[in-house]
Amino acid sequence: MLKQGLVYLVGAGPGDPDLITVKGMKCLQQADVVIYDRLANPELLDYAPPTAVHYYVGKAPQKQRFSQQQINALLLDQARQGKVVVRLKGGDPFVFGRGGEECQVLARAGIPFQVVPGITSATSVAAYAGIPVTHRHIAQSFTVITGHTAGAADQTADDWRQLPRDGTLVILMGVGNLPQITERLLTEGYSPQTPAATIYRGTTVEQKVVIGVLENIAWKARELKPPAITIIGEVVKLRQEIDWFNPRAQENEEVLSLVDQFLYEECVLP
Ligand code: SAH
Repeated sequence: MLKQGLVYLVGAGPGDPDLITVKGMKCLQQADVVIYDRLANPELLDYAPPTAVHYYVGKAPQKQRFSQQQINALLLDQARQGKVVVRLKGGDPFVFGRGGEECQVLARAGIPFQVVPGITSATSVAAYAGIPVTHRHIAQSFTVITGHTAGAADQTADDWRQLPRDGTLVILMGVGNLPQITERLLTEGYSPQTPAATIYRGTTVEQKVVIGVLENIAWKARELKPPAITIIGEVVKLRQEIDWFNPRAQENEEVLSLVDQFLYEECVLP
């Protein structure tokens, strides 16, 4: 009888490859097959054995190489061949990652699977920009929403009137729609002077942070492309004091470690 396959749905973290969990890394070490998304850092593939087969099923906005159905079919097909499949997804697989849908497909097909949560961009990209999503006396809650549907004609699906005014708002998938999103929040009664930040490719050497207020953030961040998150709330001001991450220094560190390695090899080789 054919060996039973197994699927690990693994959160890759937000971009910095060191932000995968130890468990996620161990799953990769056992993988026969890795099926990974655009937002999963490809450097993580190095943890998989050299014999592992990689499938890039990248999902860029508007440009989809694999439909969700094709991804589901690939997962089922590989698992049915008895393989250990790692499905590597950016951030946390259950935060706007369609991870739940993939689990439903596996569950219905009777294929064993495990979910390895990841560090979501919603909190970690904020952290690397020096913005805590909650802070005593400033924000007692944070709400994560998708900005993807904000520009759609039918906006009834997400009722923004319910959003807490004294908490932090974190918007994923919102760069393209930022003018509509901020317009809508202003209409809902948010103050135009609410501090706001948009962060592109947070936690990586390419990280860019644009700071403004609700009424001008869409304009100030107009050059930024996905992936980016927007944070709206008083906590954004804390960045002035606790901005700690310097993407350029990180880049230099990487170069230095390569130089170190080179010097070391120079020394030990005859
Ligand atoms: N499951 C992921 C989110 C998938 S939706 C998670 O938990 O993080 C994709 C959105 O995530 C992007 O449009 C962007 O809003 C956000 N995102 C993911 N990685 C990011 C990064 N490094 N920097 C900024 N935004 C990021």
